[in-house]
Amino acid sequence: MSRQPNIVFIMADDHASKAISCYGGGINQTPHLDRLAEEGMRFDHCYVTNSICTPSRAAILTGTYNHVNCVSTLDTHINNRLPNVAKHLRTGGYQTAIIGKWHLGEGEDHEPTGFDFWSVLPGQGEYFDPIMIEMGEEIEVPGYATDVITDKSLAWLEERDQSKPFFLMCHHKAPHREWEPHPKNRNLFQDDVNIPETFDDDYKNRAMAAAVAKMRIKDDMTYADLGLVQPEGGSEVGERATLNSTRRKIPNPVDVSGLRLIDKDTGEVYTFKTNEQLSHFKYQRYLKRYLRTIASIDESVGRVLEYLDDHNLSDNTIVVYTSDQGFFLGEHGWFDKRFMYEESFQMPFLVRYPGEIEPGEVCKNVICNVDFAATFLDLAGLSIPTYMQGKSFRPLLNGTTPDNWSDVAYHRYWMHRDRDHNAYSHYGIRNQRYKLIYWYNEGYHLPGANHGGEDREWELFDCEKDPLELFNVYADTAYQGVVIDMTAQLDKKMAEIGDEPEHPTVP
Ligand code: CA
Repeated sequence: MSRQPNIVFIMADDHASKAISCYGGGINQTPHLDRLAEEGMRFDHCYVTNSICTPSRAAILTGTYNHVNCVSTLDTHINNRLPNVAKHLRTGGYQTAIIGKWHLGEGEDHEPTGFDFWSVLPGQGEYFDPIMIEMGEEIEVPGYATDVITDKSLAWLEERDQSKPFFLMCHHKAPHREWEPHPKNRNLFQDDVNIPETFDDDYKNRAMAAAVAKMRIKDDMTYADLGLVQPEGGSEVGERATLNSTRRKIPNPVDVSGLRLIDKDTGEVYTFKTNEQLSHFKYQRYLKRYLRTIASIDESVGRVLEYLDDHNLSDNTIVVYTSDQGFFLGEHGWFDKRFMYEESFQMPFLVRYPGEIEPGEVCKNVICNVDFAATFLDLAGLSIPTYMQGKSFRPLLNGTTPDNWSDVAYHRYWMHRDRDHNAYSHYGIRNQRYKLIYWYNEGYHLPGANHGGEDREWELFDCEKDPLELFNVYADTAYQGVVIDMTAQLDKKMAEIGDEPEHPTVP
């Protein structure tokens, strides 16, 4: 029997696939991440079952949907007595570690379990000189978070018991809000980044949820998001402009002539003549800071791959790169995630394993983050426990699509009353061609909004004819057969995984 493969699982936080050059977004270069695609497989249809940090991480660890692992929102922390993939791998002979972002809760009921070594950021963590909780002890580690997490990961690899296979979860904080680049990368991207064609979306022909969401670059970004401070005596009367006030939103006034913004690091002053100039500035500032933090992640992945090469580990190590969900980079005018719209729903997923994957492959099948745990156990030659709801996609790595592969991804967002972003709760499915979403926005009404009974709405998108998701065709007579079929697929999926529907049953 051949030796069990090592597994290095590298996960970023909020890294949209568009910001990895091998996905063809054309907005940055990520040579080390691209190397994984060149030497392994790129998945174009990997989806998150709940497009926010904490629930995604729980789904990945446990191989179950959020109504089963009970981590449905940012505020519901994991019960660490639940079984998880690290516990199974450890029982199966692996040495296990998690380093970096955890975001599943703290204290003895929520801290990492199943790991021989763990060193994690509390909560969201800091970009500079982060505090880490290492095996229960709080320490402060000097340096930039992405470098700190990489250094600790490589140190653990160096010190590990070489007689055992290893499972390393290396979880970056970057590129999470508020996007603080390493000082050496502050001047990257001097040229403007292309603006997405849906940046000025008017949200017509869509559910109410799109129009009322508070995640617009123009209106909802804060001073801290963009590394700015407001001058003393600025346009917000009665409030002192200090670093403490940077969590306020930057105004988007009709008369911008009085608005001056200052770079918090360099002191550079920006002034504006028009709203258009201001929103253009916000977009460029956001994208550049975001992409600069990703430059450090790419460098980190390069260091890990180099370590594996130098220690003769590359052939027998599965290397995965992914993100806990996608992210809006100006599409529909948005930043953030939460929605089942494609930019936040799709996760990047690159995997290299020379023993089973031909170089340069691209997989178009639908996989989901709930599938990761089962796949790792399968690759490790271990049995997949029956409580896991995800399916192993190991055959897809070999270039084989099993006859019963469903190609359906299920998403459910539960944070009904999220005040920051006002994202409506919803669920739905996507297959290769269509996406069906049910918005139910349980019990939450935005003050002043005229909902007129439109709280509960369906959306259907034809992903082939309308990849930008601008036209809800749910009521289009030409799509009534598709509506019936997709609703049946949704009902089937919810019954299969045991989630409770909110939509009316069709007789
Ligand atoms: Ca995230």
